[in-house]
Amino acid sequence: MHLGENDLTSPMLECPFCGSKDRKNIIELQKNPIVNLLQCNRCFAISASRVPNNETLRKYYSNYYTTSHLNVTINNPNRLAGHIFKYINKCINKDHINILDFGGGDGGIAIAIAKMFLEHGSKSVNILLIDYSECPTYTGDSRICISKASNLNIAIDSKYDIIIASSIIEHLVDPISDLKQLFSMLDMGGIFYARTPYVIPIMKIFLRLNRYFDFTYPGHLHDLGSKFWNNFFDNVSIDGEYTILRSRPSIVETSLDQDALRTILAYILKLPGHVFHEYYNIVGGWEVFIIRN
Ligand SMILES: [Zn+2]
Repeated sequence: MHLGENDLTSPMLECPFCGSKDRKNIIELQKNPIVNLLQCNRCFAISASRVPNNETLRKYYSNYYTTSHLNVTINNPNRLAGHIFKYINKCINKDHINILDFGGGDGGIAIAIAKMFLEHGSKSVNILLIDYSECPTYTGDSRICISKASNLNIAIDSKYDIIIASSIIEHLVDPISDLKQLFSMLDMGGIFYARTPYVIPIMKIFLRLNRYFDFTYPGHLHDLGSKFWNNFFDNVSIDGEYTILRSRPSIVETSLDQDALRTILAYILKLPGHVFHEYYNIVGGWEVFIIRN
């Protein structure tokens, strides 16, 4: 999607994550007006130099949700839920669990995780789903209570055991405000899970081969990989003490029966990332599990 001058806000002079002005231009996203991808030399976030204004965003997302968001983000929410549960289950063992699902669409992933906790002995789960989407939500279990909000600007005193930010941070116009708010809502011993695209190394290969690669701007505004997440708390000011429990290439989104070729290719490309960690970048996406101490 090409954006005109009237669709955009003014160029951002500072990194939207750490505030540094020390950024280098790495890829041009569009001309007239120019929008570039800039890499921050301090926190390693890659962000678009200009972001859409509210009206453009509203139009873009009104279309986005009626088309394919839920299908595109992850083909099978139970697979991602099982993957997340496998790591957080070791840390969280409570009768009553509070989950905040930020940008979770219809809440399918949070509900699937809630059911896994109930199967493992928890008695009830409260879910707060924060999303623009007005998808109907069915939990299918009276022990799961779900409430909804359209954004984080609501007075919430509750603390959450689990905060999920899966495939959402890359869409945020002011990501650091939302991240600070989310971390302030994480309870002691609670786990924050994030999954973000990390496609720039793949995009650079495509460009070298003179092939087109769609960054999906203005849907995606940021690209956040291993170096960003592994150094996150050194570069970004967040209240509280945290430990990164796991920082790895993200789970493969498709399964063999849904899209065999794409799935096999994704496994092959991501495999070296599990061995070489941040020294290997051709992974397409990154994920972190962070605990509040
Ligand atoms: Zn930065």
